[in-house]
Amino acid sequence: MLPVRRLPARADHAIFFESVMIPHDYHLHSNYSPDCQVNMVAMCQAAIDAGIAEIGFTEHYDLHPDEWERDWFKADAYFIELERVRAQFADRLTVRAAVELGEPHIFRTECQELLAKYPFDYALGSLHWVGRRLVFDPQFFSRPADEACRDFFQELERMTRLGGFDVLSHFDVIVRVGYDVYGEYDPTRYEDAIRPVLRNLIDHGIALDVNTAGFRRRAQMLTPGVEILRWYREMGGERVTLGSDAHRTEHIGNHLDLAISAIKAAGLTHLTFFERRQPRLVPLA
Ligand SMILES: [Zn+2]
Ligand SMILES: [Zn+2]
Repeated sequence: MLPVRRLPARADHAIFFESVMIPHDYHLHSNYSPDCQVNMVAMCQAAIDAGIAEIGFTEHYDLHPDEWERDWFKADAYFIELERVRAQFADRLTVRAAVELGEPHIFRTECQELLAKYPFDYALGSLHWVGRRLVFDPQFFSRPADEACRDFFQELERMTRLGGFDVLSHFDVIVRVGYDVYGEYDPTRYEDAIRPVLRNLIDHGIALDVNTAGFRRRAQMLTPGVEILRWYREMGGERVTLGSDAHRTEHIGNHLDLAISAIKAAGLTHLTFFERRQPRLVPLA
């Protein structure tokens, strides 16, 4: 295993944050995910060009029987390519090994086996399916907004109760398509359903992925937004990561400055970095 570039020692954090525009982008994909055509070299180069110090390739590991490319992820090939780009960009970019686990509570055995077998730096947990319904399908929203949103948050509570991953992806991802259908979204209506999810995250030490992909949709929102981040902090949560959820080079790092602003506005003071599944909290400048 090749060494990866380390963050500077604690005393140098201020210098570190001044010397780069974006400290990390911890949610992005390459062609080791079935829905991304871009190779790792191109994604790394785009990250460097965008002034990002550290990235993680969070490829989809999806086992839901209705997935169009079920069980597509090839971990051996992924790690070979990852080591190659780590060596190629060693002096310019830290590249983390990661994975986006789909419904890790349903496919718990398979997910835990994957994490035990390979040297991942962190695992995202994602809820894309509620039963047989896909949250990116407008059909999911063919009912009153309250019903669809509560259905989602109840399943998210079940998923986070079990834990088994390091970062919860795109907390209220339902806005991406739900906003198109309903023309609005207000998380404060679901506070009673959201707080138990946050409780589970804090109990398991799971971080929140402050995800900016909603800015590529009509919703124009962070997932989670500042209200949910504020509840999380009030309840004792500290751990957040930034994620563009890029599947294309031009999306890497997009709007992560807005994510940092929301994190600060919520009263959170650190970003969380991971190495071999150990979190490290670094103060925001
Ligand atoms: Zn996702
Ligand atoms: Zn993703």
